[in-house]
Amino acid sequence: MSAVNKQLPTWFSDSVLTWYDNNGRKHLPWQQDVTPYKVWVSEIMLQQTQVTTVIPYFERFMSLFPTVTDLANAKQDDVLHLWTGLGYYARARNLHKSAQIIATEYQGQFPTDFEQVIALPGIGRSTAGAVLSLSLGQHHPILDGNVKRVLTRFMAVEGWPGMKTVENQLWQIAEQFSPVKRIDNFNQVMMDLGAIVCTRSKPKCEQCPVSSKCQALALERTTDFPYSKPKKDKPIKFVYMLLLVASNSKSGAANKTGKQVYMYQRPQTGIWGGLYSYPEFEELSQLEQYFQQQSLPMSVDELDFNEDLLFRHTFSHYHLDIQPVVVSVASKPNVINDSSDIWYSLANEDDETSKIGKSAVTEKLLNVLKAGAY
Ligand code: SF4
Repeated sequence: MSAVNKQLPTWFSDSVLTWYDNNGRKHLPWQQDVTPYKVWVSEIMLQQTQVTTVIPYFERFMSLFPTVTDLANAKQDDVLHLWTGLGYYARARNLHKSAQIIATEYQGQFPTDFEQVIALPGIGRSTAGAVLSLSLGQHHPILDGNVKRVLTRFMAVEGWPGMKTVENQLWQIAEQFSPVKRIDNFNQVMMDLGAIVCTRSKPKCEQCPVSSKCQALALERTTDFPYSKPKKDKPIKFVYMLLLVASNSKSGAANKTGKQVYMYQRPQTGIWGGLYSYPEFEELSQLEQYFQQQSLPMSVDELDFNEDLLFRHTFSHYHLDIQPVVVSVASKPNVINDSSDIWYSLANEDDETSKIGKSAVTEKLLNVLKAGAY
């Protein structure tokens, strides 16, 4: 990827905004009498789902739940029923849960502060940015799947966007390219370009307003970007491993440092059968979901991933790349939901919990935690 020169962001935004004026989508139901609520519902429905599929769902949803308060007062079953066919039901549950929060904490008015929006269940940085920019013109970049595809190609960003470093790089580019004026149109056109022109398998570069400076096109590598998850001869799997460290504990010698880390017992079958391990997730969205399910007061966007901790564990039939994610909390959250789950003391080897079976990876990460090297 070449560095971004000073003129490029302005040239880019001017080019796509001109394309928007002539070709952008302006008649979608959520673009009429725009409100944060409408944009929010549409954004959640559009995750992993195409516009044409979403339109009738959106219209039914709005006629039954025209306001946030109507949604908050609905029965969850009714919301899920309306969602039938859209899939990914966690989205509907979070929508409902968020509406109830908005009804009680914000008197039914959709919050307009970015931090308040992103704190709602099921809303990440990109969705919060989309809602506030598209409905209120607030200056926030977005980075949904479509925008990621356009930017990785335009700037020929190497590496799998699922890696935090690559994602951070893309956010930086998105910020640089966002114009001061017309952020709402800019964000809309970036999504439109990804959906209509810079499509996954056969991008229509001849129709693209930024083709003359697109690095992937110049390299004749348009479909190489964005990179897929790494795969080699021996398959490589990737997981985020959550090291949830609680500082508080009861007094006594059993807790010299007071710190304990959460572990669960793996199923008897499969890798590390019956051994104790840390929760793991293939995707950041799953980790985000876990935080929400466990009512942990954090979001993946706030995490600081220490990539120095990334390591590879090799099994006979595949490599497992493990990105430890250390999350420190002041007190033990209520995540234990099985009698075999434990909080393992980092201080005392005589503790009952020290006698459990642990895999080499669990041990290795325990040592990292004990050494404070995170
Ligand atoms: S030129 Fe082609 S690959 Fe590059 S951004 Fe446009 S559509 Fe995508």
